[in-house]
Amino acid sequence: MSSRYITTLGIDADDTLWQNEQFFRFTETQFQALLADYAEGDHIAERLLEAEKRNLQHYGFGIKGFTLSMIETAIEVTEGAVPASVIEQILNTGRDMLSHPVETLPHVPETLERLANDYVLVLITKGDLFDQERKLAQSGLGELFKAVEIVSDKSASTYRRIFRDIGSGPERAAMVGNSLKSDIVPAIAAGSFGIYIPHELTWAYEHVEPPRETPRFREIVDFAELPTLLGTLET
Ligand SMILES: [Mg+2]
Repeated sequence: MSSRYITTLGIDADDTLWQNEQFFRFTETQFQALLADYAEGDHIAERLLEAEKRNLQHYGFGIKGFTLSMIETAIEVTEGAVPASVIEQILNTGRDMLSHPVETLPHVPETLERLANDYVLVLITKGDLFDQERKLAQSGLGELFKAVEIVSDKSASTYRRIFRDIGSGPERAAMVGNSLKSDIVPAIAAGSFGIYIPHELTWAYEHVEPPRETPRFREIVDFAELPTLLGTLET
């Protein structure tokens, strides 16, 4: 029996279900060390972020684009003098990222299992297709989702389309994630609830101010709080 208002739950993957940003931070530290003879760490970090933003329109989100942005930054900060051996090490760190073990966040597997009994679950993530498929397979959580949407970007129209096609419309859906910019703000704009679960590490690009004044915004600290919160959501 179900008299719940919310029928459908969109769930982000990276840093909502499993660790992700920590691998980027670790690689960035290695990258700065590789170029320590040429520039200060802070300067390298700044240039890298600029390159990543510039390249999003060409490569989309994910590790492959990040790797290409590291190479581009290495060429920039060395003014073209970066040795091939350093490029090789950058490529290796990128490949290491694409094979890191999946580490689910606390309370995620058992909470998802519970939620799958009561809601239509849709995984909604951006990033490299291969990498996201690999992580989902390794996580063992794939069976709990009715659908998996690996999208190039997360906009209001993305959420409208997904919740219309898979659930019972955006109004009766909630999107859960750690990125205000990608998971929360556009989902609320689509007419859904946005449930924000902050992660201590979130990419600078993904930060916007929380839309605290909008009625469909919620914030919790732990994934395990979801079943109780969802039961309270109404029009
Ligand atoms: Mg995320």
